[in-house]
Amino acid sequence: MFFTTACRKTSLTVFKYVASKNSKKLELFNPKDGSLVANDVDLAGAEDVDAAVAAAEKAFPAWKKIPAQARQEMMNKFAALIQKHSVELAELSRITLGAPISAIGHRETMMAAEGFKYFAAWIDKFAGESFPQDDGFLKIVRNEPLGVVAGVVPWNGPLTTASNKAAPALATGNCFILKPSEKTPFSALALGPLIIEAGFPPGVFQILSGDGSTGALLSSHMRIRKISFTGSIPTGKRIQEAAAKSNLKRVTLELGGKSPAVVFDDANLENAITWCARALTMNTGQICFAATRVYVQEGVYEKFVEGYKKALLKAAENIGDPEAESTTMGPLVDKAQFDRVSGFIERGKNGQGTLLTGGSRVGSKGYFIQPTVFTNVDPDAEIIRQEIFGPVSVLNSFKTEEEIIEKCNDTNYGLMAGVFTQDINRALRVASEFDAGMVGVNCVSLSFKQTPFGGTKESGLGRENGSAALRAYTDQKTVMINLTY
Ligand code: NAP
Ligand code: MG
Repeated sequence: MFFTTACRKTSLTVFKYVASKNSKKLELFNPKDGSLVANDVDLAGAEDVDAAVAAAEKAFPAWKKIPAQARQEMMNKFAALIQKHSVELAELSRITLGAPISAIGHRETMMAAEGFKYFAAWIDKFAGESFPQDDGFLKIVRNEPLGVVAGVVPWNGPLTTASNKAAPALATGNCFILKPSEKTPFSALALGPLIIEAGFPPGVFQILSGDGSTGALLSSHMRIRKISFTGSIPTGKRIQEAAAKSNLKRVTLELGGKSPAVVFDDANLENAITWCARALTMNTGQICFAATRVYVQEGVYEKFVEGYKKALLKAAENIGDPEAESTTMGPLVDKAQFDRVSGFIERGKNGQGTLLTGGSRVGSKGYFIQPTVFTNVDPDAEIIRQEIFGPVSVLNSFKTEEEIIEKCNDTNYGLMAGVFTQDINRALRVASEFDAGMVGVNCVSLSFKQTPFGGTKESGLGRENGSAALRAYTDQKTVMINLTY
């Protein structure tokens, strides 16, 4: 069995898909106008998950032994196929996500391809270690794949998050099952023919469309050896609990954030404003490491307020149809997300802070919302404490370095932080004091394939990207050779 689920959208049925045994279906809507896209996308149930796991287990013994070069060729070919079809794939994400083609859609798909190329290059470079026989025993440490592993991903970066998991898993010789979000299944499902064309053997890379119940089946499965998850903190906790209660499968959790950006008096203001405004508007604020708590030192506060507001008003001019080349901000992903973000804004207006800009819906149909900023926000207010996952930030002034470190770290999140200053000593001091997995100096809300991606505290567990991702999909085996007799 190769592809274990079916999508009834004709644009996707370009290869053999296997119909789900589950009669439940997913309903998908276009967030630009709320229109129905499909109501017949399969939702994988227990039988489907078991069948996928069985197919993966069958494929694993041969797959883990495939020579490095052959595996590299498949992954590079797959990356090239994603690039070749990036426009169609981006469209399949956009139709239910609303990410504008020019600003994010195409880039998101290309980043997914980059991930496969990056991890393909690691395949013959992730050798183990050996230790000399000075004590009579030669010690060899092997990096071995885990077996059948799964990735459960959110909707905000449907292909990049899939690539962040699939690429290191496959590169290290695991068989991989992907569960895309119920809100964005189409681009993931469309990878099917590309997987086949790239030459991956049947069962090595499978995709199960479904919802949270499918994710729960995967995380509690007794024969899945690892689950890598990107999504919200409550779901991450459920996954870790299910993993512990089932077979103690390995868990990587990439969860939410409420990331601070700190702008000191001596910062290049134009640069700071550009990064902070971009962080808030990119993907309509639906980015886990977006800088949504902005702190500006007193001396430049008024100037920053003016420039930040101007930049966000400018961004708001390009809110619109995600199909249009000129659009840089699309709608929020769906009605539930729109209601959630609007709720935060309404409650914020009722006494949590002062509305600086935005705060309203754009247009009368679809789920468009203005970039919104609150100033003078109470440190205990909900809008400064909780992740909103939309284009909403809080902006406050501060006096001293000591004071601001404490404020930045006073959160249960720890994904990213940014510091803007021309003073190298201060930049490095603050960077080391931030309790966060990633820190930008004179930049914020960015990541690179080569470097670990992930958070401290409740922002997650483990790291993706770089060699850390390879470690997460392997166990080390120590082989001890007796040379004393
Ligand atoms: P979510 O509701 O936690 O869902 C994420 C994935 O988990 C989806 O595929 C979802 O399925 C699945 N799921 C839901 N319930 C499950 C369960 N009980 N067991 C197993 N899987 C389950 O998050 P989301 O709303 O899609 O995404 C937004 C969140 O993701 C935000 O909090 C954001 O910060 C975070 N995020 C983090 C990162 C990062 O790298 N740190 C990156 C992007 C997003 P269905 O959606 O199909 O129901
Ligand atoms: Mg759900």
